[in-house]
Amino acid sequence: MGILYKTLTAVRAGAGCAFSLLLAPQYCISCGKESPYLPLCAGCREELKAFLKESIEAKETRCKRCGRILISEKEICIECRETDTIAHLDGVFPLYPYILWKKKLLFLWKIRGVRSLSPFFASLVYSVWKTHYPGIPLVPVPPRPGKIFREGRDQIDELSRCVRGLYGLPVLKVLKRISSQQQKKLNRAERLSRTEKRYVLKNDRFLPQAFKTAPPEAAVLLDDIITTGATLEICAELLKKAGVKRVYAITLFSC
Ligand SMILES: [Zn+2]
Ligand SMILES: [Zn+2]
Repeated sequence: MGILYKTLTAVRAGAGCAFSLLLAPQYCISCGKESPYLPLCAGCREELKAFLKESIEAKETRCKRCGRILISEKEICIECRETDTIAHLDGVFPLYPYILWKKKLLFLWKIRGVRSLSPFFASLVYSVWKTHYPGIPLVPVPPRPGKIFREGRDQIDELSRCVRGLYGLPVLKVLKRISSQQQKKLNRAERLSRTEKRYVLKNDRFLPQAFKTAPPEAAVLLDDIITTGATLEICAELLKKAGVKRVYAITLFSC
C-alpha cells in the first residue's frame, strides 16, 4: 500500500511537472510577447512570411552567385567578386540574413532541439521551392559524422522529411559526409584529389535506384546556413559529376 501510494504520488508529481512545463509561458524571441507554441509569436511569424514573399518577388536584389541580398552592389556581391568559391552552384536562395534574433532562432532549433520549428521552417522552404524550383528534388546536406549519435537528431534530414511529408516535395538522400578518420584511409592520390572535400556521393549500394538509373536534370541542396558557400559548392560539384546538370540551393540563413 505504502509503495503504491508513493508511486502514485511520484507519478502525479511528474505529470504535474510536465504539465506546468507545458503551461509555462514562453516569450517570443523577437518582440517579447507571450507565445504559447513557438519561440516566435504569430505576428512575428507573419512578418517573416511577408519578408520572404517580398524577397521571392524581387529577384534582382540578390547576388547571382550566393543569393545574399545586395545592398549597394550590382548583380554580384563583394565577397563573391573577391573569391571564386562558387563555380558549380547555379543559384542559392537563403531565406533570411543571419542577424539579430535570427541567430537565437537557429540556436533554438539546432542546439536546443526546438522541433516545433521544423514544420514552420518547412512551410518557408516550400514557398521558395514552389516559385523558384518547382518539381526539382531536394538533396539534404548531410551532418558531420557522429553528430546524430551525440545529439540524437539531424535537423536538415528532419526538415527535408517535413517538406516531403507536408507538401509532397521529392527528396533524394544521395550525399554523405565522411569523417577525417575515413579520409585518412584514402590513398595519397585520393586524398590530394579530395583535399578539404569532406562529402562524397553515397556508395552504389545506398544510392536511391531512381538516381542510379537516371540522375535528375536538376537538384536543390538544402542546408541551414550559407557562410562561405564552400560546403554547398563541394556538394554541387559532386552532383554535377554524377550527371546532374543544374544545382541550386535553399538555406534558412546567410551569414
Ligand atoms: Zn513576436
Ligand atoms: Zn555573393
